[in-house]
Amino acid sequence: MVARIIPVETFDLVIFGGTGDLARRKILPSLFHRMVVGQMPTDARIIGAARGKMTRKAFQEFVEESLEEFIDESERKPEDVKTFVGQLDYVALDALGEGGWEELGKKLRKDVVRAFYLSVGPSLFGGIAERLKKTGLATPKSRIVVEKPLGHDLESAQKLNAQLSASFKENQIYRIDHYLGKETVQNLMALRFANALFEPLWSAQHVDHVQITVAENIGVEGRGGYYDKSGAMRDMIQNHLMQLLCLTAMEPPARFEPNAVRDEKLKVIRALDPVPAADTVRGQYRANGEDGSYLDHVENPDSTTESYVAIKTQISNWRWAGTPFYLRTGKKLRGRLSEIAIIFKDVPHSIFPEVDEKRGNALIIRLQPDEGITLRMTIKDPGPGGMRLKEVPLDMTFADALGPNAEVADAYERLIMDVIRGNQTLFMRGDEVEAAWEWTDAILAAWEKGGKKPQAYDAGGSGPEDSLALMHRDGRRWREIAS
Ligand code: NAD
Repeated sequence: MVARIIPVETFDLVIFGGTGDLARRKILPSLFHRMVVGQMPTDARIIGAARGKMTRKAFQEFVEESLEEFIDESERKPEDVKTFVGQLDYVALDALGEGGWEELGKKLRKDVVRAFYLSVGPSLFGGIAERLKKTGLATPKSRIVVEKPLGHDLESAQKLNAQLSASFKENQIYRIDHYLGKETVQNLMALRFANALFEPLWSAQHVDHVQITVAENIGVEGRGGYYDKSGAMRDMIQNHLMQLLCLTAMEPPARFEPNAVRDEKLKVIRALDPVPAADTVRGQYRANGEDGSYLDHVENPDSTTESYVAIKTQISNWRWAGTPFYLRTGKKLRGRLSEIAIIFKDVPHSIFPEVDEKRGNALIIRLQPDEGITLRMTIKDPGPGGMRLKEVPLDMTFADALGPNAEVADAYERLIMDVIRGNQTLFMRGDEVEAAWEWTDAILAAWEKGGKKPQAYDAGGSGPEDSLALMHRDGRRWREIAS
């Protein structure tokens, strides 16, 4: 089954930081893919804007090399690469200086969609937004795209929002959380709101608890400088896990429209109870065999930044009161896994007395690896010998279910096209980001006040002991993170 591609209208996309890592690894390869499938018009223009002096030709060669590095040869026909680099241009510009802006203006067409992607450090966001307004480059058809980190706490997030909204209206500001661009995450909404089967079960009445896991097997290698100032709470929980929590818990919006969806997500964040310190766990990985420790990769030998967080949280509303949501994320764990697991309550009365262990049904929404959905069911173990029960997965891996030609586009591909289409459904609104920080800040403040060091856990293991205890004390257990 080949997806139907609806081309977007033509556009001028300016990538501030067009020579940086994010542009090379994600933005430019994503645009290339969209061009190859016919979604990006061949008269669209992509303009790299960065500090270094570079000719247009040098930038084209630079992008060609990036495509070679990040796109498989089988998907990279020379004629497509030629067309793509033909759409590129470059301007040397200091984001916080005055030079280069006029030249950039000359390269932009009137009356086409303009998108300014700020693929630079967050300290430059405000200055760029201001200059775009001052120089008149921010037209009514313009959009500005920013990405995490969107602040360090509530105060800095508010400041950033104020800086952006001084030059752009909220409906022109696209805050990316690339988790929202993942196919399975959108499928969570399809699963919930396009099927009659699950919604009646989707509440505290039937759901025992929810586990949201984002486990990485890699450590902080190479990113130690940034990460040590941030930690797992700011880097992952405040944004990615919070977004997954919102989509899992939100009420059905009246329409699949940006503000209708985002209003419902915001209500979830606002309904979160304050989290007592006893319902949180912080961890930091230590060396284990060949795997080095967190402290080997950061400057401060006494750093107490967490590389692991587990949180038990409650949503105080009619749907969810009494059903805890457990969140966990960490680096250097046994495996790489991102999933949302809805664990249903047991049957009210078991008619099979010989079955000693109670196993509720579970619905697992897997973001990676192998995007897909699994329903854990209990069936009769085949054969004679009495009524023995067995747990089996009803498994739908998208790649298998939809066939080999199914297009599971990278999150950035969808999100960038949504920017051009002017569809903000999968982007965070300013008030959502602030509400998430408000909740996060309270936990961070309690940690600071408590002064407790993160608990050490073995690199390559399944996280700190206290994290297991957080579940055990409630008579529950985490799902396995397989290696
Ligand atoms: P990078 O250091 O590789 O690239 C930064 C780019 O900004 C370069 O092109 C540089 O020339 C340009 N630049 C720096 N100062 C400038 C100035 N004063 N004027 C004009 N251009 C200037 O950084 P990156 O990894 O590409 O990250 C960019 C942003 O995206 C950061 O905020 C980062 O946190 C965020 N981010 C990155 C990733 C990733 O995978 N790399 C993922 C998510 C978010």
